[in-house]
Amino acid sequence: MTTQEIMNQGEEYLLHTYNRYPIVLEKGEGVYLYDTEGKKYLDFCAGIAVFALGYNNQDFNEAVKSQVDQIIHTSNYFYNEPAVSAARKLCQASGMKKAFFCNSGTEAIEGAMKSALRYAYNKDGETGHEIIAMQHSFHGRSLGALSLTGNAHYQDPFKPLISGIHFAEYNNLESVKSLINEKTCAIILEPVQGEGGIYPAEKEFIQGIRKLCDENDILMICDEIQCGMGRTGTMFACQQYDVLPDIMTVAKALGCGMPVGAFLTNEKAAALAPGDHGSTYGGNPLVCAAASKVFDLYESLGVCANVKRVGAYLYEKLEKMAEKSDKIVAHRGLGLMQGLEFTVPVGPVIQQAQDQGLILINAGTNILRFVPPLIVKEEHVDEMMAILEPIVAAL
Ligand SMILES: *Cc1c(COP(=O)(O)O)cnc(C)c1O
Repeated sequence: MTTQEIMNQGEEYLLHTYNRYPIVLEKGEGVYLYDTEGKKYLDFCAGIAVFALGYNNQDFNEAVKSQVDQIIHTSNYFYNEPAVSAARKLCQASGMKKAFFCNSGTEAIEGAMKSALRYAYNKDGETGHEIIAMQHSFHGRSLGALSLTGNAHYQDPFKPLISGIHFAEYNNLESVKSLINEKTCAIILEPVQGEGGIYPAEKEFIQGIRKLCDENDILMICDEIQCGMGRTGTMFACQQYDVLPDIMTVAKALGCGMPVGAFLTNEKAAALAPGDHGSTYGGNPLVCAAASKVFDLYESLGVCANVKRVGAYLYEKLEKMAEKSDKIVAHRGLGLMQGLEFTVPVGPVIQQAQDQGLILINAGTNILRFVPPLIVKEEHVDEMMAILEPIVAAL
């Protein structure tokens, strides 16, 4: 098919839930992507914070290929070694105790919600428990996760959603406190809000929530789907705040492109029993071989150290640019998860960057988001800035 035929048939046969850019991507290598016309792009999107190891990592590819030749799927009626190894590595990296594998971020959230509801039900035998979530949060598109997503635009057409969800103001502990009652079973937050505009939690806020949860026997859920897996410079963002939640959700970079998510619990929140929850594909050997290899490669490539170093370098460059531009009103983020807030929509910036071979994404209309592969180097930051700076200067 020609590039034009692919795009035409895409519009004909794919349900139009995305406004796609007129680009057909064909292959990737390291931090670069190539389209069907042979144009090369420096990628600061990484498939939305997924491709941590960059494209076409041979060790990763080999692990996936050799698992294909072994066994791809077994069902959860049996054990398989890749799932056990991936669960062990996830628990060791996070400090959590139990893992449940699913196929996406939104499913990880569903499992986290069910764990919290089950915990509360086990405790008092009653129903109608409530969850506190944050304004401007993003937790996914399935109906449960959507119920926790503090964004009217995403929620309104699908109401009524799950009842008993209350939204607190992010980084405002009093606002959280005022919503707690005897029915509250969980408080969920992203340690760094992603889709909502790259807002890191303040230390007092996230530690305050931990304390509130302890005092009231409420489960704390950290959604690490975007900010986890090394993105902020530690394996999980909550580790930078010296906080461990009762339930954690992981996806995106966990499989580095293979569709795998997980929710993790401590002993106390491991409330789901046989028959309570399941997934046909969840934890299948193919995706778990990928996740397991991801942990090994993070070690051998020193991914977290790289994120700390290059993240600081990126921070310094963006900060300088922000100081010079009166169109940039804020610069936020941790590690390789940063955002620039503009006074104007960033769509034209993204478009011009793309024309010049740089892929960037937004997080809300006015916020430019930087979530490159975690193996990116200083020279790639320089290359990115060389394209972006003149575009911003001309705004
Ligand atoms: C992307 C994302 C999700 C949803 O993940 P999917 O795999 O798209 O279902 C949930 N929470 C956060 C914080 C995310 O960034």
